[in-house]
Amino acid sequence: MLFDHDIMDPTVAELVERWSSLYKEGRFSALNVREYWRVKVPEIYSPQPNCNCLRITFDEELAQKMLFDPLERFMCGGDPSQVYQMVRQLDTPPSLCGRVFKNGDPTYGCRDCGMDPTCVLCADCFKNSAHSKHRYKISTSSGGGYCDCGDREAWKSDVFCDIHIKGQMAEQSKNPLEMIPPDLIERIHLIFDCILPYAKELLTYEEGFSIPKDLEIREQDREPTNLSSLYDSKDTFVTMLYNDETHTYDQVISTLERAIDCSQKDAVAFATSIDREGRCIVRCSSFQQCSQTKNVMEKQTSRGSGRPLRVQVMPTYVIAHQIFASRLLTWLHNILESAQAFRLIFSEIVNRDGGSIVENIIWTDTKMWKTARVQWHRLFISGMLMDQESKKMFARTFTKNYSRMMKDFILDDHDHAVSVASLGVQLFTMPTIAHMLVAEEDVLARLLNTFLSECDKKLKDNKLALEQRSSNTLSFRRIQYILYDLKYLLGVKPEVWTRELRSGFLHGYNLLLRLLSMMQGMDPMVRQVGTHMEYEPEWESAFNLHIKLAAVIPLVIEWAASDRIVLIKAYRMLMKSLAELCTEDMKRRYVRELLDYSVSCIEYDVSSAPVSIHLPLSRLVAGLTLHLDKYGLNYNSPEFLVTGKPSPEELMEPVLRTQVMIAQVHAGMWRRNGFSLINQIYFYHNVRCRQEMLDRDVMLLQIAATLIDSNEFLVHLLNRFNLMSWAQEDYEMKYLRDDVEDGVAGKAHATTATPHRAFRVFRQVHLVLVNSSKLGNDEDNMRQTVVLVEEYLQLVMTIVSERYTPGIGQIGEEERIKKEIIQLLSIEPMPHSVLNKALPEGTNHETGMEKVIDSVADFKKSSGATKGFYELKKSYYSHYNLFFYHYTREEQSKSEVAQRARKKTAGEEECCPPPVPPAFTVPFTMIVNILQCDVFLHILKTVLKRMMDLKSQSVSESQLQKVLHLVGYALHEEERYYHNNDPYFHFTRRAQKINLLGLLEGLVGHHRTTTHKDLLAWTIRKYHSVLSLSASSSKEAQTSEAVMASTSTSVAASASSEKKRRSDIAAQRKARIMMKMASMQQNFIKTNETLFQETSSTEQTNDVVEPTPMDLTEQLPEDMIAIGPRQTLVQPQEVSHTCILCHQEDQVGRGEGSTGRAMVLGALVQRSTVLSRNRARRLDQPDNHDPLLLPADLYWGAHTSSCGHTMHAHCWQEYFDDVVKKERRKPYRFRQNLSFDIDKSEYLCPLCEALCNTALPLLPSVTTTAVNLRSQDPPSATPTISLTDWIKGLQTILKHKSVHSHRDEKEEEEDTNCVEGTWTPPSLPSVVMDLMSITSPETAEAFTNLFSNLAATTIPAIPSYTMNMMSNFAHAVYVHGLGVHPNLSSRRIPLMVWASAAYTILTLEETQRNANRALLTSLSSRQRDCLSALIRFAAYVPQCVKKKQAIESASVRLLSVILEGGETAPCILEWDSFSALVTLSLSLPSIFPKILGMAVGSMQDLYLLQVCFLAHLVQLLLTYEKQNPVSEMEVEDDEEGGEEAPKDSAGESGAATGDAEWLVSMLDHCRRMASLPPIAVQPQRLLAYIKENCLPFLRCCGLFFHFLTEVPAPEELQSSVFVWESEFYCLLRYLGLSINQLRPTFDDPALLELVSRWCSDSRVRTLVTSAGSEACVNSWTRINQLVSLPHDYSELINTVSQFPCPASSGDDSRTPTMCLVCGKMLCSQSYCCQTEFPEGSRVMVGACTYHAHYCGAGTGIFLRVRECKILLLSGRIKGCFVSPPYLDEYGETDQGLKRGNPLHLDATQYSRLHAMWLSHSIPDTIAHTVESNSGVVPTEWQHL
Ligand SMILES: [Zn+2]
Ligand SMILES: [Zn+2]
Ligand SMILES: [Zn+2]
Ligand SMILES: [Zn+2]
Ligand SMILES: [Zn+2]
Ligand SMILES: [Zn+2]
Ligand SMILES: [Zn+2]
Repeated sequence: MLFDHDIMDPTVAELVERWSSLYKEGRFSALNVREYWRVKVPEIYSPQPNCNCLRITFDEELAQKMLFDPLERFMCGGDPSQVYQMVRQLDTPPSLCGRVFKNGDPTYGCRDCGMDPTCVLCADCFKNSAHSKHRYKISTSSGGGYCDCGDREAWKSDVFCDIHIKGQMAEQSKNPLEMIPPDLIERIHLIFDCILPYAKELLTYEEGFSIPKDLEIREQDREPTNLSSLYDSKDTFVTMLYNDETHTYDQVISTLERAIDCSQKDAVAFATSIDREGRCIVRCSSFQQCSQTKNVMEKQTSRGSGRPLRVQVMPTYVIAHQIFASRLLTWLHNILESAQAFRLIFSEIVNRDGGSIVENIIWTDTKMWKTARVQWHRLFISGMLMDQESKKMFARTFTKNYSRMMKDFILDDHDHAVSVASLGVQLFTMPTIAHMLVAEEDVLARLLNTFLSECDKKLKDNKLALEQRSSNTLSFRRIQYILYDLKYLLGVKPEVWTRELRSGFLHGYNLLLRLLSMMQGMDPMVRQVGTHMEYEPEWESAFNLHIKLAAVIPLVIEWAASDRIVLIKAYRMLMKSLAELCTEDMKRRYVRELLDYSVSCIEYDVSSAPVSIHLPLSRLVAGLTLHLDKYGLNYNSPEFLVTGKPSPEELMEPVLRTQVMIAQVHAGMWRRNGFSLINQIYFYHNVRCRQEMLDRDVMLLQIAATLIDSNEFLVHLLNRFNLMSWAQEDYEMKYLRDDVEDGVAGKAHATTATPHRAFRVFRQVHLVLVNSSKLGNDEDNMRQTVVLVEEYLQLVMTIVSERYTPGIGQIGEEERIKKEIIQLLSIEPMPHSVLNKALPEGTNHETGMEKVIDSVADFKKSSGATKGFYELKKSYYSHYNLFFYHYTREEQSKSEVAQRARKKTAGEEECCPPPVPPAFTVPFTMIVNILQCDVFLHILKTVLKRMMDLKSQSVSESQLQKVLHLVGYALHEEERYYHNNDPYFHFTRRAQKINLLGLLEGLVGHHRTTTHKDLLAWTIRKYHSVLSLSASSSKEAQTSEAVMASTSTSVAASASSEKKRRSDIAAQRKARIMMKMASMQQNFIKTNETLFQETSSTEQTNDVVEPTPMDLTEQLPEDMIAIGPRQTLVQPQEVSHTCILCHQEDQVGRGEGSTGRAMVLGALVQRSTVLSRNRARRLDQPDNHDPLLLPADLYWGAHTSSCGHTMHAHCWQEYFDDVVKKERRKPYRFRQNLSFDIDKSEYLCPLCEALCNTALPLLPSVTTTAVNLRSQDPPSATPTISLTDWIKGLQTILKHKSVHSHRDEKEEEEDTNCVEGTWTPPSLPSVVMDLMSITSPETAEAFTNLFSNLAATTIPAIPSYTMNMMSNFAHAVYVHGLGVHPNLSSRRIPLMVWASAAYTILTLEETQRNANRALLTSLSSRQRDCLSALIRFAAYVPQCVKKKQAIESASVRLLSVILEGGETAPCILEWDSFSALVTLSLSLPSIFPKILGMAVGSMQDLYLLQVCFLAHLVQLLLTYEKQNPVSEMEVEDDEEGGEEAPKDSAGESGAATGDAEWLVSMLDHCRRMASLPPIAVQPQRLLAYIKENCLPFLRCCGLFFHFLTEVPAPEELQSSVFVWESEFYCLLRYLGLSINQLRPTFDDPALLELVSRWCSDSRVRTLVTSAGSEACVNSWTRINQLVSLPHDYSELINTVSQFPCPASSGDDSRTPTMCLVCGKMLCSQSYCCQTEFPEGSRVMVGACTYHAHYCGAGTGIFLRVRECKILLLSGRIKGCFVSPPYLDEYGETDQGLKRGNPLHLDATQYSRLHAMWLSHSIPDTIAHTVESNSGVVPTEWQHL
């Protein structure tokens, strides 16, 4: 439709003409079209022989012209576009959205308005609907469904979005078909009629079958010649490979690689395409060759797994027709979507003859490949499901063919989503259609029959027996999709019942009963005695089936209960089914007697006969019985008289057996039955299953309790628990007597049996053995009995007290949920998700929690952590029921502990008496009688009396507790009856018979009751209060008195609560003050850190000890100066460290002979791009990279970090070797999921498991010796040198240097590709000679002194082992930092160390700034230790290099870059001035041959700082305009504000103004020298800009010299408040620069000369003027951020829903993943976007790993958008997931979008991620996460 219709091919015109005339004559048929296609289609769509099968393309333009044009023209009888428009205009705008979801599309459900969870909206509709303000749920589609916007049956309200409401308003218009000319309708008919059979025939073609005769290529096609290509295509074939779900991706790939001999990359592409399309052409050639390929593939894949890959050889012309057919379906789909008229015609055609076309397609569904199927399904949706009538017709056909379709589906192996069966959900969830199908198409019976036919195959003794893991199980799992359909059909119960509906429902119901009968008693278990079970019986399949049925059964009950006739019939049918199952053993009875009652009980022993947990039929009785009362019916109603109907005892018997079995398990009697049983019982109780298990069982027992006399009922229970003898008065006596008798008999026997004395000893031993074993048994028996009694009491309590079920207690649904929540929150406060998960879900996956939660609990957002918790409201404390039947034993004890603790702190009685339960509904009132019946009282008496008797063994505290609770319930009940004036229940009167009160009071103070003394006291008190209720005759008076009393107590209570409130407030206030004081103290400690650390280090041996100032009183920290002639002299202290491996202490820096041994820190060196200011740049060629200086944009760097744990070098070496050995021994595949990569020499710190890849040696302080020396001679004695002369000296060095290129030096075995060559400096004397000639002898002497004085050249002797460690570390920085191969002699090693030191300092500065901290505030000891060690090491580097010449060369080169510049050197805007300072100050002392010097913060360092600082200022000035486009207007405006700033801070506005003017002139000068046009600037603004922007540089210098010289830093730098201006001046002072002013620092003509040289470099101008170019840094203070994310998560997911995989044209990416560093979207974890990396390695890595290598130098942080997970990657094989920064309203994350609550960005969480990234801790985080989840299934991170 999207083409120009006016250009028509003449042959096409002729063709259309011919068809039209045939049509007019009434002779036109599909055959005419097909004959044309027979010839034309192969011509256009045949794949060419030996083509590249991955890139088969066709001439689509030609196809449009030759194939589609004629169709459309004929169909429209003229210009198609005009006709389309006309038809479309007839269309009312669509009122139904119907947008079909693709895999991964976001879908939105509304929890307030959706009829069920399958009702969803597309993103567009959602955004435009009222639901976006409701409680919506977001999830991602797995494909196949469509948007329900506009479907009245899908939404309770707000059916239409703003887009589709328009359609709704115009809808009432009439049938559009009436407005279309009949001629056109007929033509459309003809064409559709032609297309559909064609597509069907071709798409279901299978190998070996012939295609329709009329499409075959015939002999006569050989002639004429122009058709010869057609004939040829008969002889070309393709090998077609099909998708299946049995072979893995890798199997397919390796098969392809061998079978068609392609590259791995191509094989991956084929496999991806097969997975996506369902099939793919892999070869196009002659028949023989194609068959050969097929054979190879089949042979290869049939080897292990059995079924081979499906491969077919097909002629190309068939393929051509298939491709065309598929194109036609797409064309048709588009037409159908465009207008309703087309849809109506389509529906008419496919539904003709009872839907024979639909039927045909359903039948052949599994014969087609993936895309072909999906195309048909899409066509059904667009053509039929949008229109109510068509949908109904389709639903009927679908239902008629359901059975056959499901059978095909079972045999097929494709996912349900690509089966036509998946359309069921679209049809069955619509109530009108569902009800129609039930009534008219017998759909329930059809579904169930299909299901049952599969079950019949699995029957054993008429019970379902599901075996484990066989292929049968797979098909059984597939058939269970029927149960979902069943659930959809029953989703909404009918309002009106018709005769047909009733019979349809009951027919289905009857079959359901058959299914439930098969399950009743399945998986029976018999108690194992003697030995353990040999194998664990299968149990999971049955529970899986249960879970699916459990969703259906409540719906069935709801349907049945909504109509009296249906209910009666259903109940009768159920009784019949039960009668049929009633077996002989149920009928066997014996008589049991207790007190005066003799009861005929069913004979059964749970401890030896089979018991099952699956009793769905019994449970259905419970469910239906609850609804009988509504219609005035009950179990005994005459309507239910059925022969063989079970008696109430028989009814409850199966359920009772299960209860007793569980009790016996608790008593330890089933210990030998293994885990299968434990698991079953676990799930029986678990919230996922209990509604149709435990809950129904309790219900059924309660029902039985209303049907059986209370005394008899209790006897039935006692008997089943095997406690009849226990209940006898003389049980204990008898038990003891039996014991004695047994013993006596044994003895008698023994004495008579052995007359010989010789055997005496043996006999005695034997006797002892016999007795002890018997005793053991008895104790066991007694223990079991004790527990069984406890269980019995518990069950009785559950039956009488659990009433929070609508229909049993007088409560509604909301109270039920409240009760659950109260009980859960009594265990502990819970976050929303945990609470929600612990609540049972309704059929719509709703727990109803939101409705009631606020009335029972308060949501507490906890500080710190983001997750909030719900806490139970105080007023509900008393609702807590300790013996709540949904509690597990752990929950019970946990809640008891919590509640007791709460009461203790509140000063209340430490007991949890039973809460008042709601009243029973009328049918269940009978149950309370249990609480006053004789047997009950007898049991109470028995327990209490035995409690009193110290000899008695059969009682326990728990029994007492339960008895007291039961008494409590009885008293509650009596109170209720009293208030209702109902004399029926009178517990206290009846209890007089057993003197209950006397028994209770007798127990007070008894030592067996200490645990429950408070509960006992409560019970007695309650007893008295209930007694007083009824006893008093003067009721009125008493009640009023009671009221009085209660009010007075309540007044007293409120008074005391007021008092408490006040004292609480006072306590809170006190706490706050204490906190404040503590924090002040903390600050004090922090600001005086050094002081405190000194004291602590002397008191306890601390392995993290700071160098401390020698004498604090002499100089206050404020006056500290780190470098220059005024440098503060401090004596660094010797520090001792404890080795974490051998725990011995040592001092660093002593010679090897003495105690000191070499020590190291575990360290991690990583390549980094974190600080990059230019993400377009990357380090492409590390082998050639010159690390002399860091680039100004910091696009690359090497970061060093350490956990700060010290080890002896020897100990470390041993440990490391051990780790390597262990790992090497592991098979390769187990090395995959490690937290460290041994191939990169990674290991974990043995103490804290931090990731390390090298060891950083600890070295003695740089200044130790220097200080000693310098403090000896007064500073005045040494001659001084001016800055100008010093620069002259350096220039002299450069003048005499010599440069050799490498090639002529053969001995150079290292980096041969080094372009810079070797730079050799002159000797010091020659320089001095020269210098003397241009300056003075004093100057020359001073210059000599700079390099050769003792302070600078006295270096402590370093032991050789330490030296070794030093070269190792330096080399590691080189290898890991650059990512290159080892090369011990590389001259780049020292440069890398210095660059890394500079980069690490830059990072730390930025991290501190990001946290808005002063320079040294809250530095962790690991940061301090690491930086201190690293900087010292950097200072010592010249000692450990192989050739000192490397240092000299570097130093000279660097001097040349700064002082000379030149073509090859980078210009001023290209290097980082701080890194220049670090490298220069550390290398310059060693520049002269034979002189090895150290940087100690001397005069020279100060001069260097001045030069580098100046360079930085020039950088700032040159880039000023770029970020500060100043217009004159702004200048005027800012005048006043600008002036204020310096006054505030410095107080010396004069000096500052001087600075400002000086800067302006400097700016002019720089710009003039760079030939840049002058700009107008506002001086104060410029000054403010400079001060702000050079602070980071000064901070870095501060850090560097602080750790180098160990001069203590002034307090400002450690204060908790960061004031940048004060820090600026403070740093100037600390660095020995002129205080409060910039200008004096640079007031030297030599410096001005330098500025001119720097600026006049021609590249400067280019860099500055190239607007917007990334090449020039324009933001010096910017802290790199992670990409900014939208606040609303759904926005993010909507944007990626359209993200196509960049590798496969136009297809959606399955796992779109966003790089949080640069924002790039990637197609992760998918074969389509894997890349071979490194190139040529044949190792494929996923898109994220590949991207991380470049974007983050191997480290990456990503957001997996559809799952809302953060992915961290490092070093190619390591990775982990961490929680995302998106939280729901309860402060919880939702990884994997499982809950679907609306999510919003949380700034705190995101800044935490940012800080982790900025501080380079991603590798460490991964190591820790992996280590703590070592059990998790390994993930191949490199494939993500
Ligand atoms: Zn929609
Ligand atoms: Zn809509
Ligand atoms: Zn809504
Ligand atoms: Zn050690
Ligand atoms: Zn550590
Ligand atoms: Zn991809
Ligand atoms: Zn990136």
